[in-house]
Amino acid sequence: MSDLSELVADLRERARYYATLTDLGLPPRAAAAVPEETVPSVRSDAGAGLKAVREDVGDCQRCKLAGGRRNIVFGQGNPNARLMFVGEAPGGEEDVQGLAFVGRAGQLLTDIIEKGLKIPRKDVFIANVLMCRPPENRNPEPDEIIACQPFLEQKIDLIRPKVLVGLGKFGAQWLLKTAEPISRLRGRVGDYKGIKVVPTYHPAFLLRTPSAKKEVWEDMKVVLSLLAE
Ligand code: URA
Repeated sequence: MSDLSELVADLRERARYYATLTDLGLPPRAAAAVPEETVPSVRSDAGAGLKAVREDVGDCQRCKLAGGRRNIVFGQGNPNARLMFVGEAPGGEEDVQGLAFVGRAGQLLTDIIEKGLKIPRKDVFIANVLMCRPPENRNPEPDEIIACQPFLEQKIDLIRPKVLVGLGKFGAQWLLKTAEPISRLRGRVGDYKGIKVVPTYHPAFLLRTPSAKKEVWEDMKVVLSLLAE
């Protein structure tokens, strides 16, 4: 494919993704709203930056999930992480503790990180597309994704990891601005503002489908090789 047709194909796919988020008629935040040149290449104090973002989130009332949540799950880990995971949304245990991936799926994610990648979990950063638990753990809705989007963008811009892992459909599609199913996204390395993106299956899916663990391990080997570059 020529550069131009690749660009056109990429723009078409982004348009398809944003079309999935715009049933409210809200204008999508353009993917290029933060020009790449404005992302600091010299690492400022990411920890202080994240604290400021958390303060900005405050007692967030920006979407309808505010009424049903117990805690905002901002995400946690090393502000200078070289590896960052983006999941879907807090579940019941995360809502109670205010921490990402601390339930059953979280235990499996911890095993993937610590036993598979051999990285202490405290050295990575883990966040979600949504910071509040959807009722009955239903899928995130477009208005919720749009309300949370600037905060996840800011977290990634501050942390500037070397590799981002998109966990499941929602994490991977958010990072790649595509509506393609996760089954087609995994197995290919993507890009988010110059950061390598490895899409993989969500740990909750692995709990239901343990046979998919071998594909996730293939994806984690790609993560390791990208981190070693
Ligand atoms: N599933 C997610 O996507 N995120 C969590 O934090 C927990 C479960």
